[in-house]
Formats: sequence, structure tokens, C-alpha cells
Amino acid sequence: MNKKVFVYFLCIIGFIPYAHTQTFKAAAAVRIITPDPLLPVSGGIGTPKPATVKQGDLFVRAIVFEKGKTRIAIVNVDNLGWPSVLGNKSRALIKGIAPENILIGATHTHSAPDAYGFPDENGKSYADLKYLNWCVQQIADAVNEAVSKLEPAALKIAVAEAKGKISYNYYAPQLFDPRCGVIQAIATGGKNKSKPIATLVNYAIHPEVIGSRQGILSPDLCGPLYSRIESRGGGIAVFMNGAQGGMVTADNRLENGGEANDWKECIRIGELLADEALRIVQDAPVQQNPDIYCTSKKVSFPIDADIMKYILTHSPLNLAANNSSVDAATTQINLLNIGDAQVLTIPGEALPNIGYYVKRNMKTKKPFLFGLTNDAFGYMLTKVDFNSFKKYEYISRTSLGENTGDIYIEEALKMVKENPAPGEEGR
Ligand SMILES: [Zn+2]
Repeated sequence: MNKKVFVYFLCIIGFIPYAHTQTFKAAAAVRIITPDPLLPVSGGIGTPKPATVKQGDLFVRAIVFEKGKTRIAIVNVDNLGWPSVLGNKSRALIKGIAPENILIGATHTHSAPDAYGFPDENGKSYADLKYLNWCVQQIADAVNEAVSKLEPAALKIAVAEAKGKISYNYYAPQLFDPRCGVIQAIATGGKNKSKPIATLVNYAIHPEVIGSRQGILSPDLCGPLYSRIESRGGGIAVFMNGAQGGMVTADNRLENGGEANDWKECIRIGELLADEALRIVQDAPVQQNPDIYCTSKKVSFPIDADIMKYILTHSPLNLAANNSSVDAATTQINLLNIGDAQVLTIPGEALPNIGYYVKRNMKTKKPFLFGLTNDAFGYMLTKVDFNSFKKYEYISRTSLGENTGDIYIEEALKMVKENPAPGEEGR
């Protein structure tokens, strides 16, 4: 009896739980989604601004993990937000992964085409539906390609403070989360043995160095972050944003006042964050054949804000398709265990205090929050913050309502409580 058959024999007679013979696998793939010709760029509600030049390319970046029967896809899209009506079209085109195990997050660059179909005051939208449908296909293609390339892998995971001038809070400079979470998949066989397949970076920041008013189409600081990680041997880079609401943004402040709003500053910040991510993960212990776990649930948030109701009902994308009524937005929240890390998704821009609280209550020392993932419903504040400080008027107006943050916290922590901690899935 050869070794493989012997192990299988022990499994079927119950000596070894079958899970132990399953191999963790990983792969990643990329598609460029820069529109040609260029399209107007959108920083949110209002008419998009025509773009005359581009700085860098817009991407879809997908990483897929597999162990046994569980497959998980994590996708980032260089856009302001990516509504689930678009995400679900991609999910329908993806083979071999349960739709609810496909997480699609937006990087929140403010220099990409409108993916919401924001209506103006006359109900007219400027979104290019043909472009968006092409992106839907690119997302599916990237995930399908990654699935086809799955190979045995190990993980290195670390969460630590990213140092240097990267982000700050525009409303209150020190109120932001400097922790950067990094998940690196490393090939355990084949010609790339011991080399990184992909590096996922999770960090809270507004990629709005360039912004939406300069007529420039750009991934903002995420572009230089991807290329730096790749040029330093980190494999395919994936960026998932965090709890970056109200108002955690890129620290592009100049010493004598004012801001640097150009591509050079995107390169400075993007490369610094990439270098910090690689430093943070460098000495992390290698997790051989790690376990993965994925669960999800649907959560509804009341829509109190008239402007949000207007967008949902007037967008040509039929943004309200998943909702049971015009007064509530329904979306998916995921909880993942990846090795010894735990991940929760946020369907919008949670304020940093929400991020701290949720991370503190997760069952891991390596908490990850994927902001603007599966949906992006604007800002998410607790009722204590809602319509409080004068500075919070704008973010209160562009949130679904007073209870969004509290409902999110309650539902997210319920998921943490009801599901196994990392490493305890089989018990
Ligand atoms: Zn924002």
C-alpha cells in the first residue's frame, strides 16, 4: 500500500479526520479595466467630470483560496464603490465558487467612472452601462482564471502599525487606525516554490489624492501600491480598504499648508504603504496548510435619508433590486477565517471608532475589516455620532440613516459570536 492510499485508508476507517488530507490552495489574477476612450470620473453624488488624461490603470484583482470543499474569492475593483447589483452579475458568471463566498470590494478611488448611475436633479444619469457590463465580465474572468490556477500554498499573516506619513483623519488628525493587515500566499511546490503568489493589504484610507475634479482618471495611490508590491516580489497585489469613514484620508498635507494632489504624491503614499505591508508580513510565521472558513448573512438597513432613496429609485442600474422595500437596503455581510486571521466585511464607509470596536471584539489577534465590500451605502455612523458635530453634517447626510452603524455593529458581532474562532472550525 503506498503512502497516499494508506492515509486514505486511515481516513475512511476514522483514524485521521479527512480534513487533514485536504490541501490549502491559492491563486490570483488581474484584469485591467481602464476605459478606452476615457470616461468621466465620479467622486460621488453629482455630475461626473470628463477625464482628459489617465495616471496609471484601473484594475480588477482577485485572490482565491481553497481547502476541501470551501472556496473563497476576494476581489478588489478600482472604483468609488461597487453596488451588489453589479457584483451579482459577476457572481452569476463565476464557476465553482458559491456566490455568497465571493467578496467584491471597491478601493474607493475618487478618479474612476460612475458605477452607481448617480441621478442628477432631473433624474438623468451619466453612467456608461456598456463599460460597467464589461467590468462585470472582467471581474468574472479574473476569478475564473484564479480558480483555474489554484496551487498548493502556505500563508503568512500579520497585523501591525504601518509607520510613516500615510493616512490621517481630516476631521480630527489622530482619530484613525494605523494598523495594516497583510495576508501573503506562498507557493509550496512547483517552479515558484517558496515565492509569494499574492499579497493582500488591508488598510483604511481614502484614495483621493487626485480626486474627481482634475479631469484625471486614476487608481490613485492604489496603483503605485500594486506595482511596488509586485516589483518587490510580493506576487499579485490586492488592496482591501478598511473603516475609513468620517474622514480617514491620505496624508498629503504639505508642511507649509495646502495639499499635494498629484500622481507623484500617489506614488509616495502608495509605495510607502506597500513597503510597510511587506515589512509587516516579512517575519510572520509560515502557516502550513491553514484552514479557511466562510459564512455570510443578509442584513437590512433602514433608509431614512431622502437623497439615498432618490439615488436608489432613480439610478438606471436598478440599485434597489435586492431590497424588500424602498425603505430598507438589504446587503450581504461576510465573516471569514483565513489561517489565524478573521475577516468581517463592511457594506460602506464605517467611521474608525466602529472599526476599533468591532476589531476588539473579533476572535483573533489578527482582525481584518474589508470596507466598501459587497455594497457601499455611504457613511456608517453610530447614532451617537449621527448629526452631532458640525463636521459630521456631510457624512450624516450621505449615510442611510441614524441606525446604520449600530445595526452593523450588532449584526457583525452576532456573526463573530455564532461562528467558530480561527483554528476552531473543526471542533
Ligand atoms: Zn468616502
